[in-house]
Amino acid sequence: MQGGFTKLRMLRGEIFAFDDEAESLYDALPPHLDSLHFNQLLSDLDELVPGSGNLTKRYTDYSQNFIIPVDKLDTVFQVAIDEARQRTKKHLKLPGNENFEIEYVTGKSWSGYNYYKGNSYSLIQINTDLPIYIERAIDLACHEGYPGHHVFNALLEQNLVRDQGFMEFSVYPLFSPQSFIAEGSANYGIDLAFPGQEKINFEKEVLYPLAGLDTSLADSYDQIQRLRVQLNYAGNEAARAYLDGKISREAAAKMLEKYLLYEPERALQRTRFFDQYRSYVINYNLGKDMVANFIRQEAGMDEVKRWSVFEDLLSTPKTASMISSE
Ligand SMILES: [Zn+2]
Repeated sequence: MQGGFTKLRMLRGEIFAFDDEAESLYDALPPHLDSLHFNQLLSDLDELVPGSGNLTKRYTDYSQNFIIPVDKLDTVFQVAIDEARQRTKKHLKLPGNENFEIEYVTGKSWSGYNYYKGNSYSLIQINTDLPIYIERAIDLACHEGYPGHHVFNALLEQNLVRDQGFMEFSVYPLFSPQSFIAEGSANYGIDLAFPGQEKINFEKEVLYPLAGLDTSLADSYDQIQRLRVQLNYAGNEAARAYLDGKISREAAAKMLEKYLLYEPERALQRTRFFDQYRSYVINYNLGKDMVANFIRQEAGMDEVKRWSVFEDLLSTPKTASMISSE
């Protein structure tokens, strides 16, 4: 199927199977992972999360220790985004006038959103419907800002629209292969800007104290988050089963509670994201993993080279099959 036509057909009311839609719109076929795979990860988590009894309930209680208090949210977020910006500017030449604004909003199906306004300027919105946990400060700062969406859009505008006159790149088709690279690189950007232990170190030294959180719990919480990230492919399975009509919204929310350890309200919020964005969900995790593999292949562990391959990926039009190793 041709991506552009698929979206048009969807706008006219046609519904495609999850995998067909994903392949057609994003040029990537999401993997099928069974519950055995996720249960193994859950049993590893089970040993790390304190207490006994139902894991999701236990995790929900435990995670209360890591909520950024509402009155500290802006301070923590500003510091995180400033750090992400400094780290990015060390490696990438950004347009001199690049800038952004942060707004706090409610009533959305997502946790953060970048509205790129053009001329190197982004409006970044953070959804405060649900509690925001400490690890999300750097995640959102990198994903929505530096070196994520803000930088991606600014570089596309600079290199393709301004320098080469490709006016078509001043329009961003959201449901297109471009979003696979956009979301994948925005998530990979977190590891690029804060490699290895640098994220947890910065959180412990700067963000935990700013948020008034207990740093003695930070290392074990970080270890738990690293495992939880691997479980997010269960979200794709829930989205596929739900959107293909195999399970109800409630059953999809239950899957998210079980495998992603979401509290009920967050699980329902996520099913609304499935309604709105459908197979777009694969862009976050499969996108990240494919971008990470591509950069590992091209640059190995050389930090300078990784940033330069990343910059090239963000400055030239590429789709998933162009960075695939298969
Ligand atoms: Zn995004």
